[in-house]
Amino acid sequence: MEVKEGKKVFHGVAIGKIQFFHKKENLVVRRKVEDTDAEIARFEAAKAKAVLQLQGLYQKALKEVGEVNAQIFDVHSMMLEDLDYNDSIHNLINGQHVNAEYAVATTGDNFAKMFADMEDEYFKARSVDVKDISERVVTILSGNDTDIDISGEPVIIVAEDLAPSETVQMDKSKLLGFVTRLGSSNSHTAILARTMGIPALIGVEIQEAWNGKTAVIDGYEGKIVIEPTEEVLREYEARLKADKEKKELLLTLKGKENVTLSGQKINLYANIGNVSDLASVLQNDAGGIGLFRSEFLYLEKTDFPTEEEQFAVYRQVAETMAGKKVIIRTLDIGADKQVDYFNLGKEENPAMGYRAIRICLKQPDIFKTQLRALFRASNYGNIAIMYPMIISVEEVREIKRIVNEVKEELKAAGLAFGEVEQGIMIETPAAAVMSDVLAKEVDFFSIGTNDLTQYTLAIDRQNAKLDDFYNPHHEAILRLIETVVKNAHEAGIWVGICGELGADTELTGRFLKMGMDELSVSPGSVLSVRKAIRETE
Ligand code: PEP
Ligand code: MG
Repeated sequence: MEVKEGKKVFHGVAIGKIQFFHKKENLVVRRKVEDTDAEIARFEAAKAKAVLQLQGLYQKALKEVGEVNAQIFDVHSMMLEDLDYNDSIHNLINGQHVNAEYAVATTGDNFAKMFADMEDEYFKARSVDVKDISERVVTILSGNDTDIDISGEPVIIVAEDLAPSETVQMDKSKLLGFVTRLGSSNSHTAILARTMGIPALIGVEIQEAWNGKTAVIDGYEGKIVIEPTEEVLREYEARLKADKEKKELLLTLKGKENVTLSGQKINLYANIGNVSDLASVLQNDAGGIGLFRSEFLYLEKTDFPTEEEQFAVYRQVAETMAGKKVIIRTLDIGADKQVDYFNLGKEENPAMGYRAIRICLKQPDIFKTQLRALFRASNYGNIAIMYPMIISVEEVREIKRIVNEVKEELKAAGLAFGEVEQGIMIETPAAAVMSDVLAKEVDFFSIGTNDLTQYTLAIDRQNAKLDDFYNPHHEAILRLIETVVKNAHEAGIWVGICGELGADTELTGRFLKMGMDELSVSPGSVLSVRKAIRETE
């Protein structure tokens, strides 16, 4: 038995035989050509065929993993038409009288290196894409272009690296999981694996000698076990069986509408704190992300995350959710979420202290960096932004002023951004009481019942001694929620709950009766809440 560790891309267990995937080696030799026009024509014909293949892949991916994930193949088509890329190939053929294969491979290597050397993580990851398109053209030029073949039993694919096009081409019914040595969790291949829900690992020290051996991918722990002992195999088989049973139960609710017996519908989204939670969101069939606690990005760091770092994360979330709504909450630091580099200092009452939107409004540089990253990422999916700990309409107006400044700056810099819904969290009694006025200023409300309970009942949510007093079913909380829903609807905006109370199935019926538009709960609770909704009159 041999165990190798790697980085988890998607959880779950896969047991099966390994098929080592070799890229078809395109041995590119440099040849001298006399007729450069004919060589250019060969290149152009191969490129046209590559574009056709990419269009086919786009259509296949569209059906299997959704439009946003399919877009990579559109991007590849566009990259093939890139002027600099084409100029470089033409110049090599015309200037050095070399064959098309050599000109394409050399240009591909040069461009890939240029991308790989860039600081920006996003552009770094594009290095793989430029290699992928060049290899596609070289493969066509060499007459090697056949599909990846997984014949016989389903297998675990082990490869040096997998390009998005290779992942999509594989027959999903034959693919148990995959393990690669290269690849980044930011790559489109990783995004595709998550979307397809296949256990996958990257960064594993793979060996060709594993080919044909039985193995287990443990996507929970991030390891692959080659030739497991009988005992280990039995443990994993039990895990797989338990996962399967759970899945089957879930499957009966997957794809079903969140609709009551009398036909009332409600949106059911998931809360996340991290990119790694996305797999669970997809597996549990949430209709979107109702709360992305972006402060976790700051908590993991020893210094402020840069605009580029944040942009890469928000973009990845937006792309993975493939057009579904992703509500990202701006930084909610302070109180129990302390980070040294913010130098917030000691406070007597941190839960009622310098935190969340208060920090953002006092230190607009921090706020603007996040807003820029959010608006830029909005170009890649359906991002909405919400602001935490609001107590007044003045705060909302100040936020809007800063947002407008950010938008103007992005426009001036030629940076694209999409339409972004903007809402606020209703998690202070002040916001709940003023919700009729606030509703006229924003696109939606999301009720943070965790803090709303703490502030309304004057009970520190961190204080274990007060657990018996912390009662979110308190009529005061329910009345406030009802008021907020009524005020939102009177102003024509939608309203949801993203606090823990949203998952309390004892209250599902009551929320529906209030006319709640959305509930956002932890990914693991989505299907149990769906069940409760579907059983409500
Ligand atoms: C809430 O307060 O209900 C909420 C969703 O935010 P957090 O739990 O992150 O404070
Ligand atoms: Mg809160």
